[in-house]
Amino acid sequence: KLSKRLEKVASFVPTGAVVADIGSDHAYLPCYLVHKGIASRAVAGEVVKGPYESAVKQVRTEGLTDKITVRMADGLAAVEEGDEITAVTIAGMGGPLIVSILEKHPQALKTVTRLILQPNIHAKAIREWALANQWAIQDEVILEEDGKVYEVLVLQRGEMKLTEAEILLGPKLMNAKTPVFVEKWSREIANWQRVQQAIEQAGKTPENQAKHEELSHLIKLVQEA
Ligand code: SAM
Repeated sequence: KLSKRLEKVASFVPTGAVVADIGSDHAYLPCYLVHKGIASRAVAGEVVKGPYESAVKQVRTEGLTDKITVRMADGLAAVEEGDEITAVTIAGMGGPLIVSILEKHPQALKTVTRLILQPNIHAKAIREWALANQWAIQDEVILEEDGKVYEVLVLQRGEMKLTEAEILLGPKLMNAKTPVFVEKWSREIANWQRVQQAIEQAGKTPENQAKHEELSHLIKLVQEA
């Protein structure tokens, strides 16, 4: 059975999609997608040997070798000419790492119409990348599993406009204001306030002062939202 987190990612994959799951680890997600008849085919990419071998083994065990190709490659280099990938999933990494994967092999996205990205932290980096690269946020979800908070971002090609608060918090998440969202950002504010107190006690160097002001700005931004 898939984790609640990966199940959420899977729920945004269009039926009939050809999926590339990058950083697939055990290839649980592509196996699930093909088994459920959601994806017609899939590529599972892994850059590390151990997880790559787990993926190969899992795909074999599930009897899906004709539908899922496992490749050992760095990020989107796992996508080859002729794969005709329509959806890319990247889950379980930090936002900046996901962005670096998207930036490194842009030609691999040529046939892709949907990105389903699940950053563990710093989703902001993904929203900034999307804004700069003509991808628009179609959907966003925040969820909690085993005491950890995850975000899922669904991107389609298109233009969007985001305010500073929306880039940080997520336009859809900000609107929905679910209990998990409110709790996450309340905790974030409390952390920032603790850092500010430490700065106040440490004395006011120019750098400290700048950091303090930056945090005040963030706290205000989130509180207003
Ligand atoms: N996607 C799975 C999930 O969400 O459960 C596995 C997440 S696991 C924490 C992250 C995986 O990404 C690791 O197996 C790691 O080897 C792989 N990874 C990290 N950087 C990568 C890259 N540049 N290209 C391909 N895989 C990468």
